[in-house]
Amino acid sequence: MEFIEQGSKNDILYWSKRLYQKDMSPSTSGNVSVRTSDGVLITSSGVCLNDMNEDDIVLIDYNGNLVSGNKKPSSEKIMHTEIYNCRDDINAIIHCHCPLITAFCVAGKTMCEPILPDFALMYNEIPLIPYYCPSTIELADAVADCFSKDNNVALLKNHGVILGADTLQNAFYQLEGIRAYVQIYFGAQVISSPKSLNKKQVAEIRQLYIKK
Ligand SMILES: [Zn+2]
Repeated sequence: MEFIEQGSKNDILYWSKRLYQKDMSPSTSGNVSVRTSDGVLITSSGVCLNDMNEDDIVLIDYNGNLVSGNKKPSSEKIMHTEIYNCRDDINAIIHCHCPLITAFCVAGKTMCEPILPDFALMYNEIPLIPYYCPSTIELADAVADCFSKDNNVALLKNHGVILGADTLQNAFYQLEGIRAYVQIYFGAQVISSPKSLNKKQVAEIRQLYIKK
């Protein structure tokens, strides 16, 4: 992989394009941001993540005010800034309407079944936040409340998914892993029904990870 400076505009451009190209952020949906020493770099409103250039990424402060750039910041900017304000360990955020993951959100279902060892290792449950109108302070508050309880990812009912990590690269990989979970879950349902690991098997994989 080419060298990309973490937390830069290039970082956002690179992973945003991957999100679109992997069918995780269709059309002009989705927004991506990174924490910098000057504020938050965030994608602008109404732009396809695959077709952006550096001018489509703007700098905002931690209250969502535009600091530099000629475009309008994402309408979900407060959802991003509220997470950064409550979580020092999160430096990168992806919000998208990945169709497969959003199917769970539309079905009103949390992801909590340990059908795979890697999922069982990472998560007890990926919570589902009740529906709030997109781009509102009510949605941003509900998401911040969820992240303040040490969740790094949340499903938004009838909307999409939001995920934070230390780097954008890790955020992307985690999101891709969740999308794979959904694909496998759906596939297992078509064949018969998903069978989860039992408590002993979950404990075993978690113990193994702690030992490393
Ligand atoms: Zn959205």
